[in-house]
Amino acid sequence: MKTRIKTLLADKPLGAQVAFAGWVRTKRDAGAFSFLEIGDGSSLANLQVIADAALGNYDSDIKALSTGCAVMVEGEVKASPAKGQEIEVLASRVEVVGWADPARYPLQKKRHSLEFLREISHLRPRTNVIGAVGRVRSYLGFAVHRFFQERGFVQVHTPIITTSDCEGAGEMFQVTTGLTPGKGEHFFGRPAGLTVSGQLQAEVYAMALGDVYTFGPTFRAENSNTSRHLAEFWMIEPEMAFCDLQGNMAVAVEMLKFLLDDLLAGCAEDMKLFDSFVEKGLLDKLRGVVEHEFAQISYSEAVERLLASGKSFTFPVAWGLDLQSEHERYLTEEVFARPLIVTDYPASIKPFYMRVNDDGKTVAAMDILVPGIGEIVGGSQREERHDVLLARMREAGIAIDDYQWYLDLRLYGSAPHSGFGLGFERLLQFVTGMTNIREVIPFPRTPGFAPC
Ligand code: ATP
Ligand code: MN
Repeated sequence: MKTRIKTLLADKPLGAQVAFAGWVRTKRDAGAFSFLEIGDGSSLANLQVIADAALGNYDSDIKALSTGCAVMVEGEVKASPAKGQEIEVLASRVEVVGWADPARYPLQKKRHSLEFLREISHLRPRTNVIGAVGRVRSYLGFAVHRFFQERGFVQVHTPIITTSDCEGAGEMFQVTTGLTPGKGEHFFGRPAGLTVSGQLQAEVYAMALGDVYTFGPTFRAENSNTSRHLAEFWMIEPEMAFCDLQGNMAVAVEMLKFLLDDLLAGCAEDMKLFDSFVEKGLLDKLRGVVEHEFAQISYSEAVERLLASGKSFTFPVAWGLDLQSEHERYLTEEVFARPLIVTDYPASIKPFYMRVNDDGKTVAAMDILVPGIGEIVGGSQREERHDVLLARMREAGIAIDDYQWYLDLRLYGSAPHSGFGLGFERLLQFVTGMTNIREVIPFPRTPGFAPC
C-alpha cells in the first residue's frame, strides 16, 4: 500500500518500511548517494529520499532522474540530520515509472510567471503555487457545503441548461444541437442557454424546503477581458424563505467569516505560501476580516462619498448609475479599508426580482465589496408581492408567459425571501491574493481562450 507523503510527514513513523510515489522535484548526486526530493501533490512539502549507489538500477535509472520524473519508492523512514525536515527515507527500491526529458520538460526548477503557466494549463498544477490553489479550492468547496449543511440548508441542483432568458440575455451562451435549423425546431421546444444563475430555480425550492443553496457552474458570455471575469465560473447561491435583507446580510457575513476562519486553520501551510509569495500580509488581512465587523452604507451614501472624494474616476458617478469596479474598490480599500456592504440600489439598475423599497425608487439589494477585488457577493430580498413583481416584469420587457411559474410562487403561499450569489473564484482570489481570476480555476475560459 502506498502512503501519501503528507501522511508520512505528519506521522513520522521512524523505523517503518514504507512505500510511496511521486514526482522528482530535484535530484542531487553526492558520490555514494543521490538525494531525491519527492513530492506527490498531497501537500506542499517534499520528502527526501536517499538512494544508495548500491541500488541495482542506480547507474541505469537513478542517475538519469531529473525534475518531473515519476517514481515509486520503498524504504525505511529515518530521522533526518538535514535542516528543515524531520524525516527522510533510505530507499531499498526506486522504480522509475515515467521519464520527463529534461531537454523538453517546460517546468524546470525555477520560478515561472503566472502568464507563462497559463499557456501550459495541463502542467501548471505541478507548480507549488497552482498546486496550492488546487488544494485550497477543494478545501474551500467542501467548507461551503459544511457551512450550509451544518445550518440545515438543503442543496438544490439547479439546471445548467435553462430556458429562462431574462437575466442578461446578451450574456447567455445558446445551447443547440447544431443540427439543421431548417424546421426551426429547438431541442427543448424553445431557445435554451447555459445558466447565468440558479437563483430563480433556487427560489422554487426555498418556497418548499425553506433554506436552500446551489453551488455549481455558471456561464456568462461576457466579452470583457478583466482580471475578475470568467466565461465559466462557480457560484454559491443560498436562498432563504421568511428572510429579509437584514437576515440575508447576516448569512453572507457569517458565511464569509466561517470560510476564512476555517481555511486559515485547515490550509495553514498553503496559506503561508500565498502570504509569502503572492500577497504579503494576506494572513493578517484575512484574520482581520474574521475579527472585525463589515462596514455598511447605502448606495445613496456611497454615491455621496464618491462625489465628495475629489478623485477623478474613469467612469462617471451620479445617483442612478451603477458602481464600477474602480468606485467599489475606492470605497472598500480607501474609505473603509475593510469589507463593505452596500445596500438599497436604484431599482432602475437592478433586476426585476429585487424587492422594491417603500420609497419606490430603490430595491432591497446588497452587494459585498472587498479590498483588492470589489464585488464578491450580490444579493437581495426578492419581490414577493405578485402585483408589484408583475408590474416590474412588464416594465423590464420580460416575456411574462415564460415566467408564469415564477409568478405562481407569488400566488400560492408567497413569503418574504432573500438570497445572494457569491462568486467562488472571486472568493478564491481574495483568499489567495491572486490578482488574476484565471489562476484560481483549474481550466479558465475567457474570450478566445479554452485550451484544455
Ligand atoms: P460584476 O458587476 O462584478 O460583473 P455582476 O453584478 O454581474 O458582477 P452578479 O450577477 O451579481 O454579478 O453575480 C453574483 C456574483 O458572481 C458576483 O458578485 C461575483 O462574485 C460573481 N461573478 C459574476 N460574474 C462573474 C464572472 N464573469 N466571473 C466570475 N465571477 C463572476
Ligand atoms: Mn452583482
